[in-house]
Amino acid sequence: MHDVIIIGAGPAGCTAAIYAARYKLKTLVLYADLGQMSYAHEVWNYPGIEKIAGTELSGKMMQQAVKQGAELKNEDVVQIKKQKSGFLISTNANKYESKAVILASGLKHKKLNLKGEKEYTGKGVSYCVTCDGPLFADKDVVVIGASNSAVMAALMLKEYAKSVTILCRSEVKADAASMEIIKKSNKIKIINGEPLEIKGERFVKAIKLKDNKEIKAEGVFVEIGLEPSLELAKQLKLKLEKGYIKVNAEQNTNIKNVFAAGNITNRTSLKQIITAAAEGAIAAQTAYRQAK
Ligand SMILES: Cc1cc2nc3c(=O)[nH]c(=O)nc-3n(C[C@H](O)[C@H](O)[C@H](O)COP(=O)(O)OP(=O)(O)OC[C@H]3O[C@@H](n4cnc5c(N)ncnc54)[C@H](O)[C@@H]3O)c2cc1C
Repeated sequence: MHDVIIIGAGPAGCTAAIYAARYKLKTLVLYADLGQMSYAHEVWNYPGIEKIAGTELSGKMMQQAVKQGAELKNEDVVQIKKQKSGFLISTNANKYESKAVILASGLKHKKLNLKGEKEYTGKGVSYCVTCDGPLFADKDVVVIGASNSAVMAALMLKEYAKSVTILCRSEVKADAASMEIIKKSNKIKIINGEPLEIKGERFVKAIKLKDNKEIKAEGVFVEIGLEPSLELAKQLKLKLEKGYIKVNAEQNTNIKNVFAAGNITNRTSLKQIITAAAEGAIAAQTAYRQAK
């Protein structure tokens, strides 16, 4: 029986683990991947560190959690069940018991749910330019989206790809400086249209639009925003507010001994590393106080 199981190894989960382990709680962190921070090419706004790659900061936080005595396991949590005492947590590989749970499972990329999207994920369809951009050297790629993140993706892709098309329903909305670079680039163009299907053979070949036109594409980057990962919250019947887990100032949810921290909560609209880390620290402290 663990004192606390933390789901997620982003800044919220790792900070919760560092604090919980220092409180001498038997702490296990279960994580599916490195989370959003690892997509950050460079982080410039974490106090005390002038500039660092997201993956490096992620590695440092995980190492620190382990050094303080937490155990970290790369397993995907698929189910949480409330038991008479504590919780039973099932992953893709094992089952664990814990007296308390801290949900720090962050945000995930929204899907378009187009025909072909799931089939070609990893075969040309991607949700992460930082991770997959270099694989599309000298290829024609399409970025679907209209926000700042779609523009950032296009700017990054132009360093590798032969051509970059931003496909959006109406207007692209991004900061003026980025839009200026887009306008001047002879590699990037913006097309208005609604995607209907992602087509291909073994790999992606084109996007079919609702007006039946097709855009040639060997890579499709979906950049339509992020949403909370709520599957586990729903299993526990946690209360939500505006789509995020509702917590109080001590990171308590509506279920006793279930805490939430980081981007998944309704606590702040500033979804950043520092705010996630702060919520993780508070969640661990509350778990410790309530365990006593
Ligand atoms: C491209 C990009 C650049 C960014 N740049 C900056 C920046 O410069 N500065 C800044 O402050 N912020 C930046 N951010 C935001 C920052 O990364 C997030 O605010 C922060 O990572 C949120 O932390 P978190 O711990 O809540 O969630 P995450 O870091 O997303 O971690 C979530 C964790 O939960 C795990 N998880 C989810 N579901 C399960 C499950 N079922 N089972 C097991 N594990 C699960 C994931 O695997 C992951 O380990 C950036 C984000 C992006 C995408």
